[in-house]
Amino acid sequence: MKQIFSFILSSLLPALLFAQTNNTVSQMDSVLTLLHAQHQFNGTVLYAEKGKVLYKKAFGVADFRTGTVLQTTSAFNLASVSKQFISMCIMILQEEHKLDFNDDVQKYIPELPYKKITIRNLMTHTSGIPEYFDYFINNRTPLDTLTNEKMIALFATLKPPLDFATGTKWNYSNTNYVLLSSIIQRITKMPIEQFIQHKIVAPLKLQQTYMYNVFLPAPTNHVYGFEEVNGKQKLNDLIYFDGVTGDGNMYSSVEDLLKWEQALYSEKLIKQSTLQQAFMPVHFNNDSTYPYGFGWFIEKENELYWHTGGWAGFINIIYRDVKNKRTLIVLSSGSNNKGVQLARKIFEHKPYVLPSLQLITNVSVIDGTGTPARKAAVRLENNKITAVGELTPYPGEIVIDGGGKILAPGFIDTHSHLDRSLQKHPEALPALSQGVTTIVAGQDGGSDDIDSIIAAVQQTPIAINIASYTGQTTLRAKVMGDSNLHRMATIAEIDSMKKIFTVEMQKGSLGLSTGLEYEGAHFSSRSEVIALAKTAAEYHGRYISHMRSEDIGLADAIEEIINIGREAKLPVQISHFKIALKDDWGSAAQILGALEQARQEGINITADCYPYEYWYSTLRVLFPKTDFTNIESATFAVNETIDPAASVVFPFAPNKAYEGKTINEIAAMRNESAAQTLISLIALVDEYEKKNPGDDNTEGIIGKSMTNADIKQLLSWANTNICSDGGAGGHPRSHGAFTRLLSYYVLQEKIMSIENAVQKMTSLAAEHVGIKDRGVIAPGYFADLVLFDAATVKDNATIADPTALSDGILKVWVNGKIVYRDKATTQQYPGMFIKRGIE
Ligand SMILES: [Zn+2]
Repeated sequence: MKQIFSFILSSLLPALLFAQTNNTVSQMDSVLTLLHAQHQFNGTVLYAEKGKVLYKKAFGVADFRTGTVLQTTSAFNLASVSKQFISMCIMILQEEHKLDFNDDVQKYIPELPYKKITIRNLMTHTSGIPEYFDYFINNRTPLDTLTNEKMIALFATLKPPLDFATGTKWNYSNTNYVLLSSIIQRITKMPIEQFIQHKIVAPLKLQQTYMYNVFLPAPTNHVYGFEEVNGKQKLNDLIYFDGVTGDGNMYSSVEDLLKWEQALYSEKLIKQSTLQQAFMPVHFNNDSTYPYGFGWFIEKENELYWHTGGWAGFINIIYRDVKNKRTLIVLSSGSNNKGVQLARKIFEHKPYVLPSLQLITNVSVIDGTGTPARKAAVRLENNKITAVGELTPYPGEIVIDGGGKILAPGFIDTHSHLDRSLQKHPEALPALSQGVTTIVAGQDGGSDDIDSIIAAVQQTPIAINIASYTGQTTLRAKVMGDSNLHRMATIAEIDSMKKIFTVEMQKGSLGLSTGLEYEGAHFSSRSEVIALAKTAAEYHGRYISHMRSEDIGLADAIEEIINIGREAKLPVQISHFKIALKDDWGSAAQILGALEQARQEGINITADCYPYEYWYSTLRVLFPKTDFTNIESATFAVNETIDPAASVVFPFAPNKAYEGKTINEIAAMRNESAAQTLISLIALVDEYEKKNPGDDNTEGIIGKSMTNADIKQLLSWANTNICSDGGAGGHPRSHGAFTRLLSYYVLQEKIMSIENAVQKMTSLAAEHVGIKDRGVIAPGYFADLVLFDAATVKDNATIADPTALSDGILKVWVNGKIVYRDKATTQQYPGMFIKRGIE
C-alpha cells in the first residue's frame, strides 16, 4: 500500500509541477500582455526556476519621449529594492571586521541626536527614527536637492523625536537606510557607488547595475520614470530628494537581478552563516518578532521572501521562493502597480481578478466643480474614475457611447429619508430615477446605529450609497427613554449620550443631526445640543439641523444654529431651508444677509434646500407650542403657516376618506372651520395611535407655505446645496427634487447655470456633509455618475401622482456599475456605506 501510494505521488508530482509552471508562465504572459495593451503596465518581467529562466519579456518603452524600446537588460530605478544591496554592503563590512551589527550608530555618525541605536536597528527598521521626507519638504529652499550629509545635518539641527522607543516596534523608515549608506561611506572613505561596484557588481559580473543619483553622470541605458494622467504621459523621474543614496536609487535590470538573487544561494559575496541573518525575523526587546530581516520582508520563514520598491515613476518587486527555488522579478515604470500586483498573485498561486475597464465616450462632461461643460471621454476602472480627456478605447475595454449627452457626478442627497424603504426596495428607484447615487440618512434627529446600517447593507445589498448622521432624538431616547423626552436632559444623561455618540463617530457617523421642531427634541436645552455638537467637532464631524422653527420662530432658530456653530466650533448646516410664515415671505435676502455675516465671523454655516413651495411633515408641526387643542394656535396655522386650500393631507390612517384631500375639503366634509379641522384631525390621530401602537405612518400633510421668489433666492445662495427630504412617496420631491431643479429652475427659469446646479447637487453637497472622493468627475474619485439629456430632463411627480418617474435620466452608475437605465433598475446592487471622510 505504502509503495503504491509513493508511486502515485512520485509519478503525479512532476506532472503537477510542470502543469503549474506552464500555467504560471502562460498566465503571467497573458495578463501582462493585456495590461500593457491597456496602458497599465510598462516594464520587464523575469520568472526563473532553479536559476533557469522560464519567462522573460520586456513590454513598452525605456523613454516615452523618444520611444526607445525597453529590453530585459534595461536598468530601472529599483527604489526600495535597493535596500537589500545596502544591507549586503553592511554584511560585507561585518565580515571584514570593519563594523559590527550591534555597534552604536553614533560611533560613526556622532552628530545624530539619538542614543543607543544600533546598525541592526537601522537595517530592520526598529530604530524609531522618523521618515525624513516631511522634514526636508518643510525646510528646503527652492532648487535645494537633498544629500545624505544634508539629511544628517537636518536631523542634527531639528532633533525630531523618535516615533517609538528603539527596539520596541517596527516601522518602515527610509531614514534608516540613508544613514546606513552614510556609515558605509564614512568607514570605507569611498563613495557608495564605488563600494558597490567593487564589492558586488564586479564579483557577480553584473552588466547593468549601479548606484545613480542626480549628482552622478547619467548612464546611457537607464529607464525614465513617467506617469500617465488623463491619457497623457508625463516625466516622473528623479526629483529633489534624489541626491540621497541608501534607501533607493540603485539601478538594475531583471537579468542582473536574477544573477544577484542566485548569488544569495552561494558564498560569492559573503558566508551563508552571515547571510542567514538577513532572512530572519527581527526580534524586539521583549523578544516578540516582526517578519522583516535585513532589507527583506519574510512572507513565510525558510520559504518566501520579497521586497517591493516604489518611487517617482517606478514600481518593482523581487520575490524569492527558496523552498522551490523560484524567482520573480518585475521592474516597471509608470504610475500603475497592476503589473506588479497581478504577477505577484500568479507567482503565489493566488486567485486574481483582472481590472474591469469602461470607457464612456461622446459625452459633455460637467465635472461637478462648477467649471464649464467640456467634450471628453471618461475611463472607469472597477469602481473608480481613472482618466478624463481625449481617450481612445483599449483592447478588452467596454465602450459606452453617451450620445452627446451630459455626464455629471451622481447627485448627492444631503437630506433623505429613503433609507427607511431600502430593505424592501433595494433598487432605490426614487433616488436613481432623478440621478441621485448617494443618500444621507439619520436626519431630523432620528438615526439608526452605524453598525446596523452596515449590517443591513451587507444583508440586503442596495443600489445606492448611504451615509448617516447620528440623531440627537435617538440618543435622547436611548438614555432618557422613549416616553420621557418632553423635558431637558440632566448633565449625567448628556454625558451618557456623549459616550454613545462618541462610539458612533468612531464608526463613521457624519456628525450630529437634530430635529428641534419635533416633540422628542423640542424641550432639549441649547447647552445639551452644544455639548453633543462638541463631540462631533472632536472627530471633525458636522452638525445638521431641522431647526427649532421654520415659521414663527425662524429668526430665533437661525440665531440658535449660528450660536451652536460658534460655541461648538464645527460646520453647521440648515436642513431643508425654507421661509414658511406668510409674515416672513419676501425676507430671503435679509435672512441670507444674517448668514453671510455669520460666515464672515468664521462660522461655516451652509444649507440644503428642496425646490418646492410645499413641505411635507406631520400635522403636529402646525402647533409649535404643542398645544394641539388650542383654537387660537389652529387659527394662526391656517392663516399664517399654510394655505388650507392648497395643503393636502396624506396619509391619514384614522380615516382613509380624508387622504389626498385639502384641509378646506376635509373641513367641508366635516362641516367645520379649517382651524377646527386641524384640531379634530390631531385628536383622531391620537385616538388611532393609542389603539394601534407601533404604527408610525399614520398621518402627514403636504403644506403649501413658501413663495417661489424666496425659494429662488435660497437655492441660489452660494452655500446652498440641493436635497430632496424625500422618502419613497408622499411628497413629489421623493421622486423629482433633483430633476425639478434642472428642468424648472435651471433650464426654464434660468436662476443659475447648469454647471452651478450640478455643483450644488454634487461636490458642494459632498463638502457640506463631509463625504470625500465623491461628487467630482476626476481621476481617483468613485465612479458614481449620471448621464442625462438636458433637452428632455423633467420631473413628473406631482401631488396627485407622487411616484411618477422623471424623464431624461438616461443612465446612472454607482461605484462603476450601471444601476439604472431607461427608467428601470438593472438589478445591480453595488451601493456602499460611506464613512465620514478624513479631513
Ligand atoms: Zn426635517
